Amino acid sequence: MKRVEDKVAIVTGGALGIGRAICLGLAKEGAKVAVTDIADEDGRKVVEEIKANGGTADYWHIDTADEDNVSSAFSEIKNQFGSIDILVNNAGIAGVNKPTHEITKEEWDNVINVNVNGVFFCTKHAIPAMKEAGAGSIINLSSIYGMIGAADLPPYHASKGAVRLMSKNDALLYAKDKIRVNSVHPGFIWTPLVEQLGKDSPGGVDEFRKQLDSRHPVGHVGESEDIAHGVVYLASDESKFVTGTELLIDGGYTAQ
Ligand code: NAP
Repeated sequence: MKRVEDKVAIVTGGALGIGRAICLGLAKEGAKVAVTDIADEDGRKVVEEIKANGGTADYWHIDTADEDNVSSAFSEIKNQFGSIDILVNNAGIAGVNKPTHEITKEEWDNVINVNVNGVFFCTKHAIPAMKEAGAGSIINLSSIYGMIGAADLPPYHASKGAVRLMSKNDALLYAKDKIRVNSVHPGFIWTPLVEQLGKDSPGGVDEFRKQLDSRHPVGHVGESEDIAHGVVYLASDESKFVTGTELLIDGGYTAQ
């Protein structure tokens, strides 16, 4: 018996980076995976990779900031796969890196729409199916930036702090329904999102990477698979007594 055998999992932002590794990790452990993203071509490649390895998956275009899109796609996924057992709210954007007093309302809203409203919409439209199934596991991608400040990315910090507490509150609201809700807090993981931050930084990508490596006590940034392993644990029944927790996977970053 695999660790999430026959469970149906929806992963948002599943085309690239951490989301892609989560899709592959859940499929390897037996889940039927709904890979969802706005990057359709890359998302479909993840589905092909899962199928080539003998797994079950399909692709849906979901912009998590668009409630109608979330609602209709979740209905289709439930119709096709039969239930929704696992939801991984992974889609997220870094947004602008400016001091707070220089940020426009549009720039602020852009991050909150995806990182906070997206988690709300996906949770809202997964809960009825999970109640019907009699159980569920929701895993929300927060960040070390949802635990501590770093004097950069103000809207991103606000959004990830919100996700941390949304997770705890929903854990309490739905505990009686056997729906567990936990947050995962990665340190820096080398993904397209972080590489873009490097490209935008004054010293360029290589210098940025060296700086990031040195900020983690283990001496280097993490890999997407480091996060996927934690998510598979929280998705599986191995974590049946775990809800409302914050799983830090950060190479010791926040232990300092
Ligand atoms: P990534 O490499 O940028 O991948 C994120 C995926 O989400 C991309 O395919 C992206 O598509 C998609 N996406 C963006 N906006 C979306 C939307 N509105 N609806 C659906 N999909 C959307 O990011 P990542 O580094 O893997 O990060 C994944 C999650 O982990 C995020 O929530 C992030 O905040 C969190 N996290 C990451 C790190 C890190 O160091 N990487 C650390 C802590 C937390 P496009 O490429 O087309 O935009």
